[in-house]
Amino acid sequence: MSNPNSVVTDLLTAFPQYRPQMYFKSSLTALSHAMEDQVLAGSEQPLIIASFQKERFYRQEAHRYQKIGRLSRHVYVLAAPETDFSNVSDVYEKIAFTPDDELTQEWHLVVIANNYANCLICREKTHSPKTQASEMAMDNSRRFEGIWTFDRTVSIKSAEILLKRIAQYRPELKTKIYEALDIYCGNTDNISITGVEFSPCINPDPFVERLVTYLQAGQYKLIKANRFLSVKEKKERLLNSITEAIRRSLNADEILQIAVDRLGEGLNVCRCLIYRCQETDLNAEIQHEFLNGEIKSIKGKTWPVKANPLFEEVLTLRESLSIDDVSIDPRIQDNKSLLLHLVNSCSIISWLIVPILYQGKLLGMMELHHCDSVPVTWKAEDIALVDAIATQVGVALIQAESYANLEDLNEQLEALDRTRSNLVAITGHELRTPLSTIQVCLESLANEPDMSPELRQVMLSTALEDAERMRKLVQDFLTLSQLESGTVEWNPEPLSLQECVDLSLSHIRSRQDQSAIPTINNLVPDEVPFVEADGEWLVEVLSKLLDNACKFTDNKGQITIEVEEKNALQLVVIISDNGRGIEPERLKQVFDRFYQEEGALRRSAGGTGLGLAICRQIVKNWGGEIWAESQGKNQGSQFYFTIPKFNQKSTSNSSNVKKNRRTSSQQNLR
Ligand code: ADP
Repeated sequence: MSNPNSVVTDLLTAFPQYRPQMYFKSSLTALSHAMEDQVLAGSEQPLIIASFQKERFYRQEAHRYQKIGRLSRHVYVLAAPETDFSNVSDVYEKIAFTPDDELTQEWHLVVIANNYANCLICREKTHSPKTQASEMAMDNSRRFEGIWTFDRTVSIKSAEILLKRIAQYRPELKTKIYEALDIYCGNTDNISITGVEFSPCINPDPFVERLVTYLQAGQYKLIKANRFLSVKEKKERLLNSITEAIRRSLNADEILQIAVDRLGEGLNVCRCLIYRCQETDLNAEIQHEFLNGEIKSIKGKTWPVKANPLFEEVLTLRESLSIDDVSIDPRIQDNKSLLLHLVNSCSIISWLIVPILYQGKLLGMMELHHCDSVPVTWKAEDIALVDAIATQVGVALIQAESYANLEDLNEQLEALDRTRSNLVAITGHELRTPLSTIQVCLESLANEPDMSPELRQVMLSTALEDAERMRKLVQDFLTLSQLESGTVEWNPEPLSLQECVDLSLSHIRSRQDQSAIPTINNLVPDEVPFVEADGEWLVEVLSKLLDNACKFTDNKGQITIEVEEKNALQLVVIISDNGRGIEPERLKQVFDRFYQEEGALRRSAGGTGLGLAICRQIVKNWGGEIWAESQGKNQGSQFYFTIPKFNQKSTSNSSNVKKNRRTSSQQNLR
């Protein structure tokens, strides 16, 4: 029963002079509606044949065909059935063609009246199998190729082809079809066959008016869709540019500033803020801000977090919160002490708060403020955009944090590696040298029983000295390793600097021959403010600096200990000598491990080369700085370190107690 022939092909074979034209679906809809409206507006009883590709397309027009069917006895509607479309004679004739009929690919409308005739005979250009969803999405871009004409001859030919097909599907209609052929297709005399020409009595207005209306409506829809798409595209571009920019950086501050600037600018808000915070924070500092125009800056200000009910709401819902008009929002109007105050002081009119979350963990907040006098309605797509940016910022922040952690880890690994190489160095050079000396001395003592008592004594003293050097080296190495690996337990407490200086001086004096050390002038006044540090480690720094000053200054020289106020929070301790001095280019290097001006193997003054590296680690712990100054060789040296002041006065009794405790623990250190 089905017909493999295309009506378009049949028609073009009959009229080879016609060239098929391309029509979009929307144009065909407009033309069809205009042709149908022309029928509805007239008083004739024309022949109408409409062929729909599918029942669902017919259903959209069923109501209209009910009306048309009432106008004429010869109305034929064809469609491929899907649910209930079937061969039936109703208000009009329904012809259900089979799904493999070429008609499923075509769109036809033929109208033949006394005064006019026109036809639309088209075939869909691409008809690859589609899903229902893609069909809907592609609906407006569907394209057809064929003929639309007012030519009566062509219209009659089209009617004949279609009526023949109808007769194949509905043989019982043969008589009626003959009648139609007779009435509408019999006489073509006196009728133009060259194109769009109407007989003088035709009123083309309904057709043209409807066509224009449909085309206008189509254009309007197009403009609306374009506008929507361009807004959407602008926002997508904004999101992409922010994402790209923040992905390029691994610096958290840079990421937040990029986000705040682009977002504020892109959404044209008056103020855009980002602050980092955690769920338990009482307050947050506004670290990143974008301002549009003359808006008051609140950067650096403390922003209430815990006490802010809006913040709590965002945290509970885990989603953004928008307020179009703060002046009518009860949450704000009822909370005079905090929210109303914030709104007034920051001139907020419309407020959007968006959490920056990563795997459910709060990392910070984004806020957008409109501060113009007219409230702004936050659009769902804008909120969705800010949400999307907040997600990107969350990911970027975590990446930046991981990178920073990685850098820390790398530093720790480098420190570990340094310790390892130092260990190799220390065993390779520093320990082997004294060990060899000890071995030579002991071998000589063992193998030369006739050695004079004086030489025996020299051998023993040399071995003992080098054993002591080795002990110190191992001790300093362990201390530095502990300090660098962060395994030291710190006990900061209020301390009298004077007492710590006295304690370190007594260590020096107890260890060295008085005549061998230079004169030491302790100029630390009694009334110097208390400092806050771990006493054991403060004495360690003072002892090491004094020890060095003694080592590198001859016994006729002078050493001075002074203290000065650096600022309201810190003191600076200065240990100066007029000894060997340091070349200016070596002033930083002396704090490196194993730095010794003479080199490890030609050491004359003893020492391990680790003392200043230990001091630097200790001072770093209390947030201080240590540095050296010298005019150069034989010009003496000054060593400075800063230490925080304690802000409460302690009693002398309590400091005595601390002093006693330090004395015993200091002994443990050595
Ligand atoms: P060392 O155990 O060798 O003293 P340090 O780390 O304490 O190790 O000092 C490193 C080097 O810094 C010393 O070997 C010395 O060359 C130089 N130095 C330290 N203090 C002084 C000082 N007061 N005068 C001159 N040079 C000094």
